Amino acid sequence: MAHVSIRHLSRRFGSYPALDQINLDVNSGEFVSLLGPSGSGKTTLLRIIAGFEMPDMGDVYVDGRPVTRVPPQKRQMGMVFQSYALFPNLTVRDNIGFGLKVRHWPADQIQRRVDELLELVGLSGKGHRLPRQLSGGEQQRVALARALAPSPAVLLLDEPLSALDAQIRMTLRREIRRIQEALQITTVYVTHDQEEALALSDRVVVMHQGRIEQAGPPMAIYDHPATDFVRRFIGTSNRLKATVVAGDIGLCRIDSQVVHLTEAIGRMEGSTVDLWLRPEHVRLEAVGMSRDNALLGRIDDVVFLGARRSIRIRVGLQSLVVDQVRLPGEPVWAPGEPVSVVIPRHAPVLEDETTVTSRK
Ligand code: ATP
Repeated sequence: MAHVSIRHLSRRFGSYPALDQINLDVNSGEFVSLLGPSGSGKTTLLRIIAGFEMPDMGDVYVDGRPVTRVPPQKRQMGMVFQSYALFPNLTVRDNIGFGLKVRHWPADQIQRRVDELLELVGLSGKGHRLPRQLSGGEQQRVALARALAPSPAVLLLDEPLSALDAQIRMTLRREIRRIQEALQITTVYVTHDQEEALALSDRVVVMHQGRIEQAGPPMAIYDHPATDFVRRFIGTSNRLKATVVAGDIGLCRIDSQVVHLTEAIGRMEGSTVDLWLRPEHVRLEAVGMSRDNALLGRIDDVVFLGARRSIRIRVGLQSLVVDQVRLPGEPVWAPGEPVSVVIPRHAPVLEDETTVTSRK
């Protein structure tokens, strides 16, 4: 187990700041995901931790020791790549044992260690195959076993599941977490797939344009995004523009309809705010059924997603998206139908975006 610290790390490619003053701690045994859109600097950060890339400024420490100038093979880190990067002419056993052979382990110890790893990644019995005789998911298991063979202190994974199909991705995702928990190995995992990051990690680090926007446990990132970028990037968000009608009671007007919003209490009458809603926070009811804090809307379209459906609703001149789990007996909403959209009173109220933008 090892603690990784990153201090004041910056890296430019030409004039482009791929990483800009990154500070991050990954605790012993912790699983941290670097999550961000393409080009946000995730891979560059991982490669600097691994030692494949040098920073322009700043340092990487493992258990308090600076390793920035230590070559990758001496850092006690194991790396798994999106492309598996297996040796095509070596068997599964030889791929897994490769790093041990390079380290001059005795043959019998290599045999034992490879057997342990084959078992750990669920490939016992396939040790004599060549990589091309394995499925993509199995090849990635071999790559994971190879990275873990020398018992590294830190495991680094760069989009390891993105070349695999959805079902295998789900299975391997669970496997990776099971193995990481069993070994208690400090892990940094790069992904642009938010569901993967939320499902796997102790902590998610959201990156954008070479900076850390927010770092925290998955639920905190989802429920309490710290910046507007995180609010938009994680999950689906709705923003409805509202005007404060009576600040003392939090009464707000959305186009021509009114709702009560606790967070609007104390706001100036006539000011504009943005009501922020996650799709799953809104309830739909048949018109006439609803009681409190509901807006009259009209169904725009319904997208079938298997267990859920995603429904776009027009409310006055604005629109919002609502997610619904398909339960027996739920109404089947059809485009054009009127609907009552129930807004939670405690829904977050944000500063009006147009005000923020015009101030910039
Ligand atoms: P992706 O998910 O697409 O891999 P990322 O978040 O991992 O994206 P990086 O690969 O770290 O992002 O790249 C960050 C930025 O630095 C990008 O704009 C990229 O084009 C640039 N970059 C990365 N490596 C190099 C390089 N060797 N030379 C020039 N520019 C580079």
